[in-house]
Amino acid sequence: MPRARGFHALCFSFLCFIRVVLAIAPRDLSNFQGLYSCPVGASIARVSSVSQVQKVVKNAKKVKAIGVGHSWWRENFCASSSSLSSNEGEETTIPLGGARGMRYVGEINEREKTVKVGCGITIRDLLDSLEKKGYVLPTFPWYIDQTLCGAIATGSHGSSLKFGSLSSEKMLLEMEVVLANGELKRLTRDKDPELFSAFSVSVGRLGVIVSVTVRVEENSRTERHVKVMSAEELIEELDRAGKEFAENNFTVMESLMNRLDTTQSLWFLTRGSSKNAAWRATHVTRPKVAPVPGSPFYEAERKYWEKKRDAFVAANETPESAAQRSLGRFQERRWVRELDRNTDGSEISTPNVQTYSNIRFDRQPRRIERRGEIPSLGLAATSEMVAYLLERDWLPGPDFSKRDALVSQRFEMSYNAPDANMYDQYEVAVPLEKAAECAREVYKESGKIFESTGDTVARSGFRVPILLRFVSSEPENLLSLSYDGPKVYFNFEDYLKYRSPSASEPNAAFCLVSKVFHSSKCSHGRNHWGKTKDYKTLQSVAQPLHEQFKSNWCSFGCVAKQLDPDRKFESLFQKGWTWDDSALECGCKSSSSSSSKFTYDHVKCGEWCGGGSFAE
Ligand SMILES: Cc1cc2nc3c(=O)[nH]c(=O)nc-3n(C[C@H](O)[C@H](O)[C@H](O)COP(=O)(O)OP(=O)(O)OC[C@H]3O[C@@H](n4cnc5c(N)ncnc54)[C@H](O)[C@@H]3O)c2cc1C
Repeated sequence: MPRARGFHALCFSFLCFIRVVLAIAPRDLSNFQGLYSCPVGASIARVSSVSQVQKVVKNAKKVKAIGVGHSWWRENFCASSSSLSSNEGEETTIPLGGARGMRYVGEINEREKTVKVGCGITIRDLLDSLEKKGYVLPTFPWYIDQTLCGAIATGSHGSSLKFGSLSSEKMLLEMEVVLANGELKRLTRDKDPELFSAFSVSVGRLGVIVSVTVRVEENSRTERHVKVMSAEELIEELDRAGKEFAENNFTVMESLMNRLDTTQSLWFLTRGSSKNAAWRATHVTRPKVAPVPGSPFYEAERKYWEKKRDAFVAANETPESAAQRSLGRFQERRWVRELDRNTDGSEISTPNVQTYSNIRFDRQPRRIERRGEIPSLGLAATSEMVAYLLERDWLPGPDFSKRDALVSQRFEMSYNAPDANMYDQYEVAVPLEKAAECAREVYKESGKIFESTGDTVARSGFRVPILLRFVSSEPENLLSLSYDGPKVYFNFEDYLKYRSPSASEPNAAFCLVSKVFHSSKCSHGRNHWGKTKDYKTLQSVAQPLHEQFKSNWCSFGCVAKQLDPDRKFESLFQKGWTWDDSALECGCKSSSSSSSKFTYDHVKCGEWCGGGSFAE
């Protein structure tokens, strides 16, 4: 029956076409801004179940899980062996963000205060779901539109000296992972301490995390205190904290922990030494029972907080900030209009992140030609506009839920920012005891720029404030940036890079400050795994990874060798993820404890087990 055969042939071609369009869609594989795209030819596996993940991993030659591409490091999220082209069909990326069947939130275990979630879920979706049941994550990042598992894979964090990063042993309790051979394995801290310590911050190098069990707590009433201060005062506070930590034998005592836990600071470098160059927010959990409205106590409290808020607003008022209000309002109105156009407008304040995640992928790549169309953060006085946009998120108040008290990026900013502003985000972790010295040096260098240009640093390179956060020590995670002690994280962004005519012209002022952060003055600030790598600076001043992580680096190599002998999960960052075979042969098997297969024996085999270089 030729007609039936013709029909089948047509169907087959159509299916092939669909496969080509859907499965091999390299334009999708870029970060959330449409930048840092993977090599042409990489295939995308759209999965909706764990068994599908297992199948894809088993059959692939090179494979990598990603969340929603909310990072800035293509070398790490591209499943590929070469940056030039990819071997079609053999190099597969599995985007989990929003994947059907993998974005579930399990029942909350109210006794243990834990919940199991699928790795397709974003943090915003999870927070929304927990909030409905009266719970919250005890700590979460400023940015919440990435997947929870993507955040865990890169050691992402909010600010907490009590709970640490999302990968800490207090936050991350269990994982289900798909290994290179397609096996599904459940890992717990107790039963698999070595594998767990490697997987907890593994940047996609060991396998695919398909579910995690994490800590939750009641979404209690929380006060937010905001202090406006000068840059000098901020540095002094860091100095005091660092000294207190060192004097107490490098232990964070309870008083320091309570003082700094959940503390975040915005440092407007552009404001120089003005009294409101830094904002510091801290949070205090309150008793569950609220005072009765109208009662004397309630009225006294209300007046107290009104005064506090007025003082905060007054302290922030500068001629620049007043001038920026109109620009800020204009920008904001545009953003809201854009959002209305792109969604049905029904869920602006509590968006359905699943829809959002899909849109995110379907709309890739964000067209880079659009940069500069909208009055954007590239403008010189941007720092002040950002202040305007953030101000409302940093107001003091007595009666937030913890979900609202801890500052997180609002949806409309998150949604529109990539279209309005191309930028790179960097973040380094600096030892608590070194943070003051580091900040002082940054301040000094930025002052030099100011003097040499006769202008503000805003014009020469900085657009947005530096965000400071505190993260506790995490010896339990091999590649946690705070494995060897608590860290102050400094987040800074380059808004000029994509606005210069060549888009690659170096932003001199920015590079200068970045250099300080990676230098010995900042104890060679370690790079956040999910953020931009300033390769030039890294090669000249930073330490290679094996020096940063010492024998932990080698133990991670032992796990990688054992679980992924064919190096399937290696990415474009091959130079960095390389270990010396003979060193691992010697060190991985020889641990004194017989049950240990993965702890590298550096006493017997030496510290060096292969370089983790940032050479391009
Ligand atoms: C605007 C913005 C603000 C940010 N703010 C913060 C912040 O406040 N604090 C902070 O710490 N970080 C912050 N980040 C960094 C962000 O949390 C990380 O880059 C995070 O990894 C992004 O998550 P994703 O789901 O998009 O993962 P992707 O970017 O898609 O992947 C990142 C890495 O994780 C791996 N990975 C992802 N999912 C899995 C999985 N299921 N199994 C195994 N490996 C996986 C990938 O292979 C890749 O190497 C911010 C990022 C953005 C874009």
